[in-house]
Amino acid sequence: MKQSKTFIPTLREVPADADVKSHQLLLRAGFIRQSTSGVYSYLPLGKKVLANIEKIVREEMDAVGGNEVLLPALQQAELWQESGRWEHYGPELMRLKDRHNRDFALGPTHEEVITALVRDEVKSYKKLPLTLYQIQTKFRDEKRPRFGLLRGREFIMKDAYSFHATQESLDETYDDMVQAYKNIFTRLGLNFRAVIADSGSIGGKDTHEFMVLSEIGEDTIAYSDTSDYAANIEMAEVKVDYSAPDVDMTELQKVETLDQKTIEDVAAFLEVPASNIVKTLVFKVDEELVVVLARGDHEVNDIKLKHALDAETAELATDEEIVELLGSHIGSLGPIKLPVGVKVVADHAIKSIRNGVAGANEDGYHYTGVNPGRDFAVDAYEDIRFIQVGDPSPDGEGTIKFAEGIEVGHVFKLGTKYSEALNGMFLDENGRNQPFIMGCYGIGVSRVMAAVAEQYQDAYGFTWPQQVTPYDVHLITVNTKDDAQNELSEDLYKLLTSYRYDVLHDDRKERAGVKFADSDLIGLPVRVTVGKKAVDGIVEVKVRQTGETFEWAKEELIDRLNNLLKTTN
Ligand code: ATP
Ligand code: MG
Repeated sequence: MKQSKTFIPTLREVPADADVKSHQLLLRAGFIRQSTSGVYSYLPLGKKVLANIEKIVREEMDAVGGNEVLLPALQQAELWQESGRWEHYGPELMRLKDRHNRDFALGPTHEEVITALVRDEVKSYKKLPLTLYQIQTKFRDEKRPRFGLLRGREFIMKDAYSFHATQESLDETYDDMVQAYKNIFTRLGLNFRAVIADSGSIGGKDTHEFMVLSEIGEDTIAYSDTSDYAANIEMAEVKVDYSAPDVDMTELQKVETLDQKTIEDVAAFLEVPASNIVKTLVFKVDEELVVVLARGDHEVNDIKLKHALDAETAELATDEEIVELLGSHIGSLGPIKLPVGVKVVADHAIKSIRNGVAGANEDGYHYTGVNPGRDFAVDAYEDIRFIQVGDPSPDGEGTIKFAEGIEVGHVFKLGTKYSEALNGMFLDENGRNQPFIMGCYGIGVSRVMAAVAEQYQDAYGFTWPQQVTPYDVHLITVNTKDDAQNELSEDLYKLLTSYRYDVLHDDRKERAGVKFADSDLIGLPVRVTVGKKAVDGIVEVKVRQTGETFEWAKEELIDRLNNLLKTTN
């Protein structure tokens, strides 16, 4: 492709509203443009990168038996009402009406549509298992669209859905998918981890997220420093055996603590470590107010709390609700002498408190000499705190460290949640009607593009890996008024393309400095510069990622280039 004939609007300045490196460069190097908040156009270079990512995704999906389909983006409300998500999905669902005033949504995901499709077509176990996938535009009215393609309101996703007669069959496909995802992200050159995750609003229990390690990641991953254990901190289990130290119990005493409200204040004022203070919170779990206890040096994890209590929602109660329940404000709450019937859930670490401190449910007062069991009862001890750096890894190997991650993929075992809701049934071997057992598997294709862009760049621009790059070679004619240079450039263009290299030929009548700056910005893996030595048939070859340069004669170019690309990223 001749650069003079394509559309690569590069920018010299860093766009003011772009907050992360990948977004800045995708705009500056002319890969994308914003249309409106969270909505983007892919320009020719961006479209080529997308196509490369999609190709890898397709190959790996096909390899595990996926069949590509294309489902509608426009989805009738009835399907979402059947699954219950018309209400539950909330404001993220883009809703609209047709001319007959009927409700529709623009698909944020396709469980409903695909379950209805398979329900109507597949009636027997003989047609199972079945895996269908698509690569399609999704719509989610995100509260905070940001970081460019990383969190859009319109974005491209690969979503796959599998249908099974048995749990074993689902387990098999799930494992195949996990492997396919590992292949995909490895081929894309991404530094990623597969982590244990929360299933969010889709439902289902067994689920993994694929996280690209990156400082701009919105999720925190807890990982072991010695094994391959990794989990979203939302989910990471804490496996520590807590017991109280072997010291005598002292008397319970009420002490005035005045304005000491935070754990740090109380710890300093009473000269006790935070780990010997009972932190008391009140959560609204579904509709019930529950007293939740954790150690002062720990944080309560609302997602684990929700799971532990098998609830749909768990949110901190409001100030008014707390005062009504316990008679005091945050800062003096405690588990002692609670009103009858109030449920108390404690993190396991509470067991380690001996002669500790807790609020007295009276503003300005705390108790000292507090001992669980003797001074207050706990209905259930559960694992409800966030894991911390330095905790033992739950797999028993090593200690926990944290890293930030970008979620690029997500696999779930859905079970029968959607087949039951939408009446998706098949006849099993014994002629009995059973709901399909389902799995679903997503990859944020456009988010992946941003993740690769974030990882592959330096001070001058992109450093695309070969699998993703929009073109393989940037052929640059330094002086387009020079016949020898033009002629050699044309020859090399033909030669390279005949060897299946995808070549971008900078034939523009621009200054050399502009061409080199744009070339660094766009970041193709190899630059072939045709300059003054063109008369002798010699060109300069530069590897973008390493900065290495070579002078090669025209005749040796192809062989040497083939070798070079075999040994670099
Ligand atoms: P997140 O926690 O980031 O909102 P999610 O759990 O809502 O993600 P899924 O419903 O699992 O995401 O969607 C599958 C994949 O689609 C995600 O792993 C992610 O890579 C991608 N994705 C989700 N939301 C967006 C978005 N707003 N913009 C771009 N990609 C997205
Ligand atoms: Mg989301």
